[in-house]
Amino acid sequence: KSGFIALVGRPNVGKSTLLNQMIGEKIAIMSPKAQTTRNKIQGIYTTDEGQIVFLDTPGIHKPQNSLGDYMVKTAMSAIRESDMVWMLVDASQERGRGDNFIIERLKESKTPVYLIINKIDLVKPEDLLAIIADYQTQMNFAEIFPISARQDDGVQELLDFAMPKM
Ligand code: GDP
Ligand code: MG
Repeated sequence: KSGFIALVGRPNVGKSTLLNQMIGEKIAIMSPKAQTTRNKIQGIYTTDEGQIVFLDTPGIHKPQNSLGDYMVKTAMSAIRESDMVWMLVDASQERGRGDNFIIERLKESKTPVYLIINKIDLVKPEDLLAIIADYQTQMNFAEIFPISARQDDGVQELLDFAMPKM
């Protein structure tokens, strides 16, 4: 098995922390397939079952100029070429314009979008349902996973869920 995941989310939601938690020092270098040469590979998660290639989408935020516009287009192409999108959000912060902008772009894509609600260590467990419900008003996510990347809570479950779909 081998597949691609586009990891998206506004700055500071924990994308790098999640990647480090999943891949850590096991970071692998692979000769890029033709498909991925235009996309930046952030890391590759490898097990006996197969591998998941994580693609970076740094430009998916509201463009301020034509370069930004180009970066959004690049991010959208990474998303199109991926098997799934993981949209990371910060449970400890209210959904904001940065999150909403990305959600609007994701609605334009056919790739299934999984919502990863990160930093749940910072919220009261009883508040989690309201957070989930709030995001569900914005988009019909394929699945929703609450995690704490920093505390390694829910991360392995996420990988075990994703791998068979690659
Ligand atoms: P990125 O900009 O999306 O790559 O976000 P980073 O991975 O750089 O994380 C931004 C900040 O959030 C850092 O200070 C992280 O330590 C912190 N952070 C990331 N994940 C978690 C988490 O699960 N819980 C908490 N409490 N902090 C986190
Ligand atoms: Mg980062």
